[in-house]
Amino acid sequence: MARFNEMAAHELLPKIKSGEVTAEAVTRDVLERITAEDHRIHAYLAIQPKAALDMARTIDRRIEDGEATGALAGIPIAVKDAICTCGLETTCGSKILEGFVPPYDATVVARLRKADAVIIGKTNMDQFGMGSSNENSGFEPCLNPLDTSRVPGGSSGGSAAALAAQETILALGEDTGGSIRQPASFCGVVGLKPTYGRVSRFGVIAYGSSFDQVGPMARDVEDCARLLGVIAGHDHRDSTSALEPTCDYPATLKAGIEGLRIGVPDEYMAEGLDADVRDCIQLAIRDMESLGARVESVHLPHTKYAISTYYILVTAEASSNLARYDGVKYGLRGTPVGEINTEDELDAMYAWTRSEGFGPEVKRRIMLGTYVLSSGYYDAYYDKAQRARTLIKQDFERAFEQVDVLVAPTTPTTAFKIGEKVNDPLQMYLSDIYTVPINLAGVPAVSIPCGKAPDGLPVGMQIIGPHFGEEIILRAAYAYEKGKSIV
Ligand code: GLN
Repeated sequence: MARFNEMAAHELLPKIKSGEVTAEAVTRDVLERITAEDHRIHAYLAIQPKAALDMARTIDRRIEDGEATGALAGIPIAVKDAICTCGLETTCGSKILEGFVPPYDATVVARLRKADAVIIGKTNMDQFGMGSSNENSGFEPCLNPLDTSRVPGGSSGGSAAALAAQETILALGEDTGGSIRQPASFCGVVGLKPTYGRVSRFGVIAYGSSFDQVGPMARDVEDCARLLGVIAGHDHRDSTSALEPTCDYPATLKAGIEGLRIGVPDEYMAEGLDADVRDCIQLAIRDMESLGARVESVHLPHTKYAISTYYILVTAEASSNLARYDGVKYGLRGTPVGEINTEDELDAMYAWTRSEGFGPEVKRRIMLGTYVLSSGYYDAYYDKAQRARTLIKQDFERAFEQVDVLVAPTTPTTAFKIGEKVNDPLQMYLSDIYTVPINLAGVPAVSIPCGKAPDGLPVGMQIIGPHFGEEIILRAAYAYEKGKSIV
């Protein structure tokens, strides 16, 4: 029998609830796997073995006593380090927050606790979510467990790698411009970016506040749907959280895709797409057709502006959000002069803290963002980019008048080599071409594995839905996962 750390939550849940398997045994298998593997993968920045085992034992005791337990009772979960966990260090992958222990839980974490999930630890990431490879982690970069000479993707690379290496059963990621879907694609797992407003951002460290969404990551679609069901829904502590009711996502998964109208955006299958990735996507589309879907091509004509629009707006928001890391309130504080008695010494403390604490990519983005917001440039860059964002959003609205979902590659290539793009920010940014438009439009998308390139690396397919269309994209993903002709 497979070890518990290799199993799905939906397989383990009935066994834990019936007492056939203990939450403690499942947690132990996950912790053992972390001990055996993580010194070479670096998927975790922090683990809490004692607290996790205590949580698991409490759940076992409650089950023994016949008490009701939550939807994820006894299931180990890894949480991206951008999400605040009460009493457990949260650095957002950056030295500037080293040693910061939040005094409260993010709403998503509170919901995990309420569902009786077992929080194992915090996963590695590009600092503040800025990156596509994990090489911008302020600590040791995470490697792709399928080939350690390659990146796991970013910024939620730690969560994807932990799943692929069987170092957890479920994981939370966060996606501003692809950070859940791109690492899911590179590591051969499933990751869903919900509609903007579907999941609370309270207690999630802000990067680009009009883009950021927390989402579920798992090894299959059903687990992803279960985790979404736990974290989704309105939260009065996040003013951008939507009132729209949620669905019972696991219950609607199995309805099939007979008659589903699928659109394939021409602009996503064009130049720049690796031929091996294209082959896998085309085969997947044919599989979905044979499962009863109707396929047609659609246009998203403003796609060509997506990268520049995203990198103007997201850096503008980041430059404002990251102003709070000044050495006063939390995390790192340093001063070249020791005591702070004068204004100059205070300025020196700010400068030292921010120079030492932020990595080079974060500094680059703060500078870019400050520039595009500055007087004289605001209209030419920030304001124009906001207008382009509206056009991109309208592209999606028009497409969803024609079809129910869109299908596209998640990334132009499979996982690239460590070091391949890190010194060329533009190349790194361009690799986000198929993911950032979805965040600009605020619509949901799931990335699922759809075969492998000839070198054995996984390829990811995105299924994109209209606002609050999580139910339909999960249903399409599930039908494909069960009915696909390749493994
Ligand atoms: N790679 C993108 C960026 O660096 C996406 C990051 C994210 O989704 N957090 O901005």
